[in-house]
Amino acid sequence: MKIILMGPPGSGKGTQASYIASFAGVNSVSSGDLFRDNLARDTELGRLAKTYMDQGKYVPDNVTIDMVMSWIEAPANKEGFVLDGFPRTLMQAEALDDRLSELGGVDKVILFNVPEVELVKRLSGRILCRKCQMPFHKEFSPPKNDGECDKCGGELFQRDDDTEVVVRKRLKVYTEETDPVVDWYRKTTNIVEIDGSQEIRDVEASLNEALR
Ligand code: AMP
Repeated sequence: MKIILMGPPGSGKGTQASYIASFAGVNSVSSGDLFRDNLARDTELGRLAKTYMDQGKYVPDNVTIDMVMSWIEAPANKEGFVLDGFPRTLMQAEALDDRLSELGGVDKVILFNVPEVELVKRLSGRILCRKCQMPFHKEFSPPKNDGECDKCGGELFQRDDDTEVVVRKRLKVYTEETDPVVDWYRKTTNIVEIDGSQEIRDVEASLNEALR
């Protein structure tokens, strides 16, 4: 199964990626996490990516495509995968399409729709665990103990790009650069649209339906 998750930042793709991956029996990857991992290891790619991420802009296509393609080509991922956050531009979608043409193409595209006002509320209050990436929300789903992850006890932090100014910029870039990719998939693949503003339980029920 080769599955692509699409939707604006904060629409819940990341939360659902590992659920979908275990359902499909494949690995998932988030392009944003690959960049953050490079940043944590202080690689040249990580330092370059940070200059774009801090401004809410997309990292240039050539480096993003190379990074994700190397992940896809790893022996463990060749047969199938869940991609979260890639492709985000038409050039990335074309590169992926070329790469997958001999493997039968993408099997399913799942699009999470959430209204913009809700996304801004979700992202600007979001806090994450440094260790296990579990998401919390300062107001809607606070941790039991301040600053501490309920699941693993790790430290909670706010992403540098989750401030309101950067969040609005990220949403604008999504509309400009990624809406055309969604339109392209609507025309060329099997796309399933999920109402990502529902309760998590209902989102999972919709996903089960979509994956069946
Ligand atoms: P995310 O964790 O998916 O919200 O991504 C965080 C940031 O990483 C984005 O705002 C971009 O700067 C960068 N990024 C992640 N995926 C991509 C991509 N497919 N193309 C370009 N930039 C990306």
